[in-house]
Amino acid sequence: MARHGGGRGWYGKVAAAALGVTLLAGGAAAWSAQAGVTGGAAPEARATGPASPRGAVTPVDVSIAHASDAGPKGVNITIDDGPDPSWTPQVLGILKEYGVKATFCMVGTQAQAHPGLVKEVVAAGHRLCDHSVSHDTSMDKKPEAYQAREILDAERMITEASGGVRPMYYRAPGGAFTPYSRKLAASRGMRPLGWNVDTKDFERPGTDAIVATVERELPNGPTLLFHDAGGDRSETVAALRRVLPRLKAEGYEFGFPVR
Ligand SMILES: [Zn+2]
Repeated sequence: MARHGGGRGWYGKVAAAALGVTLLAGGAAAWSAQAGVTGGAAPEARATGPASPRGAVTPVDVSIAHASDAGPKGVNITIDDGPDPSWTPQVLGILKEYGVKATFCMVGTQAQAHPGLVKEVVAAGHRLCDHSVSHDTSMDKKPEAYQAREILDAERMITEASGGVRPMYYRAPGGAFTPYSRKLAASRGMRPLGWNVDTKDFERPGTDAIVATVERELPNGPTLLFHDAGGDRSETVAALRRVLPRLKAEGYEFGFPVR
């Protein structure tokens, strides 16, 4: 499936930049604590209102982040398209087993459908990322009003599902960013988020191939892309079980993308 295809060569070339944007690196624990305070799902009546974050929205840089807050041997595990009741719990289990914190780029409708999983992700100390409402990989060709709805509605859906914890990043589906969408997301405190290593796990190339892609492409940069939804992700689960201990053994530190 070409859901994430598109070979956006320009995209990988965008400079990582973002030097010195690590001030919020210690924020995850606090955000997790916040999530624990609120219990049930948000009331339907708020469905059309704005996200209701705790505290003010702080704008972030508009450039697409690739760097890790964990330093020169840092790697960022990013998990896209969920949450999914079959695969997200398995991914969470492996991350917990190896003590790894990851960034979950969630599709708004998935978050809305599975708020318990969103809360589990946050409670485990992982970070949230807005991955749009409907995962339209050609949204960069659509009007700005459409882009705004895709981004802001997903932000609201994820924030409500999490119990008030806002996404800290925005990753356009398929990398279909525009200058407008980056600016809008950044104004909402969501740093545009890229990737360096596309494991292509959604194509189900086999666990060995996924692991080999990580090994081969890691020199490209620290942000690794996996998926926990959109089909049978058993290869992804098996690959993470091999990749995480291997990276640890090689001296890598697991972190979050810079903001
Ligand atoms: Zn995606």
